[in-house]
Amino acid sequence: MSIKDNLQTIVSSIPDTVTLIAVTKTHPVEMLQELYDAGHRQFGENKVQEMVDKYALLPKDIQWHLIGHLQTNKVKFIAPFVTLIHSVDRVKLLQEINKQAQKSNRIIDCLLQVHIADEKTKFGFSMEELTEFIRSGETEKLKHIKIKGLMGMATHTDDQNQIDKEFQMLAIFFNKLKATPVKNVNFEILSMGMSSDYSIAIKNGSTMIRVGSLIFGQRL
Ligand SMILES: *Cc1c(COP(=O)(O)O)cnc(C)c1O
Repeated sequence: MSIKDNLQTIVSSIPDTVTLIAVTKTHPVEMLQELYDAGHRQFGENKVQEMVDKYALLPKDIQWHLIGHLQTNKVKFIAPFVTLIHSVDRVKLLQEINKQAQKSNRIIDCLLQVHIADEKTKFGFSMEELTEFIRSGETEKLKHIKIKGLMGMATHTDDQNQIDKEFQMLAIFFNKLKATPVKNVNFEILSMGMSSDYSIAIKNGSTMIRVGSLIFGQRL
């Protein structure tokens, strides 16, 4: 199967209301170009340096999504071009994104990452922290960011039932926040689901899935 075939298989299996982010991390630019030539424009990377390097080498109409843990001192490198930052996991980071977006004369779309997995290693706000932050009115001061929704990763497990429960919990939380209007916050995007669990995520209301290995094969 070619990259193009893999892409088409996935696209035809999801509703067209769901956006597919092709997770290109670790793969060489030749493979990204192949995906581009197949018509895809939404690319996701988890490391700043890798995204910056690939951005420089590839066509400029690609939309770049940062999906991995982001260090505050690296925001400046992606601020001029990034489309959506999925992995905002602390208020300090949001403030830095706002600052760098201002320098680039942009408004950067962000998702707040919520910790839903039963693992200590995954980053993210707890639901309590996030509710408190949204209600604080703090977002109103950040004129150069727009909060567009939430991102979450389920536990890495074969237990489909557990994954289902975690996505369901996040979706309920998303809908609750969506129903409470707050300035500068516009809940439209629920980013959840990867190669192994995107069907469960979509069933629970995901609007954006991040898929790597099903398109490109296993990462080295
Ligand atoms: C790597 C990664 C993905 C894609 O994983 P696959 O299993 O290859 O689909 C999705 N989201 C995040 C945050 C990732 O780091």
